[in-house]
Amino acid sequence: YYTISFYSFFAIPESRLQALRDKIQNEWGKDLNIVGRIYIYDQGINAQLSIPEDNVEGLRKWLEDNHTFTGRIPHFNWAIEHRRAFKALHVRVRPLVATDIPLSLETLSCEPEYLQPDEWERELCDLGKDALLVDMRNNYEYRIGRFENAVCPDVDTFREEMTVVRDMCKTRDQPIYMYCTGGIRCSIAGAILKSEGHSNVKTLQGGVVAYGKYVRNNPDKQLSIFRGKNFTFDKRLGEEVTSDILSKCDQCGGECDTFTNCANTSCNLLFVQCSKCAEKHHRTCGT
Ligand SMILES: [Zn+2]
Ligand SMILES: [Zn+2]
Repeated sequence: YYTISFYSFFAIPESRLQALRDKIQNEWGKDLNIVGRIYIYDQGINAQLSIPEDNVEGLRKWLEDNHTFTGRIPHFNWAIEHRRAFKALHVRVRPLVATDIPLSLETLSCEPEYLQPDEWERELCDLGKDALLVDMRNNYEYRIGRFENAVCPDVDTFREEMTVVRDMCKTRDQPIYMYCTGGIRCSIAGAILKSEGHSNVKTLQGGVVAYGKYVRNNPDKQLSIFRGKNFTFDKRLGEEVTSDILSKCDQCGGECDTFTNCANTSCNLLFVQCSKCAEKHHRTCGT
């Protein structure tokens, strides 16, 4: 299996969404043996999936042949570590990212500047004093891995996160660098800032996943400016970018960067737990 993610913003008529959902569920699931999470909406598609290696060309062909996607084949963002990362295929008609902010395709078309991993690294190594480097992911993702000197707003919602970022900006032309896991959150956040008049918004194309792969593919490289693990929302719960362990076990405080979903199903808390504590507390958070 390969693990791939992709997204694309374009108008899909609302009247076609349900039929498209059923078609993807059926043909990707049964014919291509794809597992993963696919969201479609009137603003496009957001997909995270694992696919048998032999079927990648089949998926490309499916996208080329489907008139909804003709001329809009999304760029495939390949994972750092590949395996069957999902149990089943879930295709849903819902907003591509839970943003709790109404978004129009017009706003989304105000694209930020996309930097490739090598350009991103070069610019971050030579960042001006007034530049902001913002981690747009959740705080638990930031805990186990991050770009050096990044700030991660400690908030629960996208709306609050945008407010924090706006408050950090002193001027409209202040350089803002933002990154997330696979790029889609920053495509949206960057577009919102651009639409509000911020002129200097740059984002890492393909997110931490793309940077991690760039580090992995260049073993002679001495330096990774991202340290630790890239959290993933699938069975892997993370892929290693560097072997640095930045976080501690929530129970004993020992060095640890593995997450557990509390085995107490009424709790299901996601927390950092070392193997010793996992055994001692039967994979629960202990409360
Ligand atoms: Zn522990
Ligand atoms: Zn619990």
